[in-house]
Amino acid sequence: MLDPDMKYLACSQRWLQEYGRGYADLLGVGHYEINPDIGEVWKAVYRRGLAGETVRNDEDIWRQADGSEHWLRWFVMPWHDEKGAIGGIIISIDDLTERKQIEPVSTETLARLGGIVDSATDAIITVDEEMRVSLFNPAAERMFGYSAEEIYDQTIDRLIPVGLQQAHRRHIQRFGKEGVTSRSMTSPGQLRAVRSDGSEFLIEASISKASVGGEQYFTAIVRDVTERNRTQNLLRESEMRLRALIEQSPIGLATSRDGVTVDVNAVYLQMFGYDSAAEVCGQPVIEQIAPRCRADVEGRIKRRMRGESVESSYESIGLRKDGSQFPIFISANRIEFNDGPLTFAFLIDISRQKASEEEIRRLAFYDHLTSLPNRRLLQDRLEQALRSSQRTGRYGALLFIDLDDFKSLNDTMGHDTGDALLQQVAVRLKSCVRESDSVARLGGDEFVVILEDLGVESVGAAQQTESISTKIFATLNAPYRLVSHEYHCTASIGVTLFGDQKQTNEELIKQADIAMYQAKKAGRNNMRFFDPKMQETINAQATLEGELRQALERRQFQLFYQIQVDGANRPFGAEALIRWIHPERGLISPARFIALAEDTELILPIGQWVVETACAQIKIWAQNALTRDLVLCINVSAKQFYRSDFVDSVRNAVQRNAINPGRLILELTESVLLEDIEDTIATMKALCEFGVRFSLDDFGTGYSSLQYLKRLPLHQLKIDQSFVRDITVDSSDVAIVQTIIAMARSLNLGVIAEGVETEEQRQILIGEGCDEFQGYLFGRPVVIEEFDAALSRSSMPFGS
Ligand code: C2E
Ligand code: MG
Ligand code: MG
Repeated sequence: MLDPDMKYLACSQRWLQEYGRGYADLLGVGHYEINPDIGEVWKAVYRRGLAGETVRNDEDIWRQADGSEHWLRWFVMPWHDEKGAIGGIIISIDDLTERKQIEPVSTETLARLGGIVDSATDAIITVDEEMRVSLFNPAAERMFGYSAEEIYDQTIDRLIPVGLQQAHRRHIQRFGKEGVTSRSMTSPGQLRAVRSDGSEFLIEASISKASVGGEQYFTAIVRDVTERNRTQNLLRESEMRLRALIEQSPIGLATSRDGVTVDVNAVYLQMFGYDSAAEVCGQPVIEQIAPRCRADVEGRIKRRMRGESVESSYESIGLRKDGSQFPIFISANRIEFNDGPLTFAFLIDISRQKASEEEIRRLAFYDHLTSLPNRRLLQDRLEQALRSSQRTGRYGALLFIDLDDFKSLNDTMGHDTGDALLQQVAVRLKSCVRESDSVARLGGDEFVVILEDLGVESVGAAQQTESISTKIFATLNAPYRLVSHEYHCTASIGVTLFGDQKQTNEELIKQADIAMYQAKKAGRNNMRFFDPKMQETINAQATLEGELRQALERRQFQLFYQIQVDGANRPFGAEALIRWIHPERGLISPARFIALAEDTELILPIGQWVVETACAQIKIWAQNALTRDLVLCINVSAKQFYRSDFVDSVRNAVQRNAINPGRLILELTESVLLEDIEDTIATMKALCEFGVRFSLDDFGTGYSSLQYLKRLPLHQLKIDQSFVRDITVDSSDVAIVQTIIAMARSLNLGVIAEGVETEEQRQILIGEGCDEFQGYLFGRPVVIEEFDAALSRSSMPFGS
């Protein structure tokens, strides 16, 4: 510390040492006094200090008068007195020379670093210029399999494969001459070393040099990279494999960061119609998503970015470069990396799956011919309609539509034509209803229409339905062009309304079906509403059917016999008429159950039973003189007659009972004869040859032409009772009866009148030339005992 005149005010202990003086010697002495040779440079620095500036230099090289050089760190700064005025300067000088001197590396120095060297995991090997080893740390011992003692003073060549020794030496010598003090020896994975057992291994090494006492030493830090190389190779390989997998997989892969595409594979490019990855990378992921799905996908991306758990797989719509869209399946996963999270998305084009799903749905729920909903989908729609009508309180209607005479079109014109008609009908039906209504095809020529939202009043709903039906009729009745010709078609419609009570699908369809049958019965091209009374009848019919099935085995049938007489009132035969003696309902007339039996085929076993019973009765009669010559008529249904085994079954019954077939007369109706004229003639002839005869029942009510009658092997015509009933009052009936009798005569057939109830009728019939009669006037149909009893009471001896 000096005053403005550069006289010492204070100084440090080191400063005293430097100048070789005591403290007292220096105080008050001028700096320039004790440094007479001080250079101008320093003086300038001091002046700056006295002027109030701080001047410093952290590393200054300074040449002494004796020529020696010193490294100095110094500063000169002003000091201020209590009034703030500059009181002088403070000089501080540090001699760094000693610290600055680079210490030459020696084995001793290295030994001092022994702790580090010993515990290093890398091998540390020092060699001299002759390449003799002077340091070999424990890691080197482990790595090379030599102890330090073994290797000291040996050349480094022992550690290097023979082929590499020369190159190695050259390398080190070159390094010795270079200006750098350290460098890595070669690129990793290429340098090899050899162990004491001769095995070679891959190393990575760096080398540094130092001189000690004029001698150069080289220190190598060596690392065994066999394992690391192996791992790296494995890693590289697995990376390559992964890359191949990604590139060759049929799945599109996209990597993204913060919603921006980073990388995509070839499949992805192909899927989205891009030519190169550059077109999509760097773009927002969302651009490959159809606009209507963006909000959804964006939401997922954002939630995923926030780290929220998001369903990783979902379906969406992709947007191709050309603007076309396609369904995709996306499976995305976010993975955290050191440089931030990446999202990996796998994308599969699911157009084909979607298409086949759609196809399956179409096959399962739509009719293949008309593409209308089928029965299954109808059930669905109907259920929905029912629910919605329950909810809104508004009526709906179910229309069951059946084409009239479709079967004959199909049979005569072929199925292709039939199909063409059905397709056109489907289109027309759809044109009649609103978009919200359903049209379905149940199969065959049956269609169903569901009308919804028909108002809250049943009357109004019915009126609306009626007007829609009228529209349907008009539309369906318009001519169709089928192949090359025009076709006209009518339909029958059954309707049931829904909405006022809980009903099931099945109930409704059944109701509409019943109504449709009523419409058909009413004469086609008609529409009928379902009526609960109708349902009752049908239910009763169903019960009857069930009971009818059991009637035969429960022996509930019985034949009643009605007498037939000649012009002189002499009995010559009987008609057997079936009765069902029901345990609860009592006697049921054939008018109530024959049609049902025919519909259900039950007429076959029942008819067979009639044939058997009649033959058995003829056999019994044959044993009695009074009845021996009676003929017995039985009624035969068309169903029965057309069975291929009919002829045999009659013949068998006749033969089994050993009766005269001439006693058996089969009554057929005109409708039977018309069904298939050639077949009819063949069957009749076969039975005639055998001796059985035929009577044509209910004659006059059908349409048989004389032409046909001529060809049939008939025995008799039976005038229908409807003509007999009014014969006394209706002259046209008389005319009909006259014609029938004339016709019979011309064909050489017998004539019998049925339903004769009064003497007056009998008289007129006799007058017209009729000679055989049946009716209440002579006797009602009665059980056999009664019949036999009546016969034996009869005053007129039979056959006389
Ligand atoms: P159908 O063959 O024309 O039989 C005549 C019907 O007229 C019988 O009715 C008979 O009882 C009734 N009748 C007879 N005389 C008179 C009369 O003076 N006045 C009136 N009003 N009616 C008279 P039923 O027995 O009720 O039989 C009805 C129909 O059922 C028969 O008509 C026949 O077509 C059919 N039928 C009866 N039995 C059988 C059978 O065993 N098999 C088949 N397939 N059908 C049968
Ligand atoms: Mg009859
Ligand atoms: Mg009759």
